[in-house]
Amino acid sequence: MLLTPGGASVPGPQADRNDVPGTHGGFSQYLFRFKLRYSPHCACDPAKIQDVLHVLEDCDMFLRERAALEVEIDVLIVRQNFPGILEDITKEAKVSRFLRHGC
Ligand SMILES: [Zn+2]
Repeated sequence: MLLTPGGASVPGPQADRNDVPGTHGGFSQYLFRFKLRYSPHCACDPAKIQDVLHVLEDCDMFLRERAALEVEIDVLIVRQNFPGILEDITKEAKVSRFLRHGC
């Protein structure tokens, strides 16, 4: 955030570095809502909103990390498997770590 001479805060150039969930506060959709990003869209495709489901299921930027996570938890990360992942505390913790750090 930058401050204007009048003291109002505006997004600075660093706001667009938040393409990786967990770095400086979260997904583009969330950061955009609080005017911390210029756009809610993902860097992988300007037509796609970067939210939790996009990163978990669809985002090409996290393809390698998502594949590694699937091997680690031995479950495909698709919507139909979310209830089972959330019921397993170890798997849920690993998915949460992925969402925070992208790995
Ligand atoms: Zn994406």
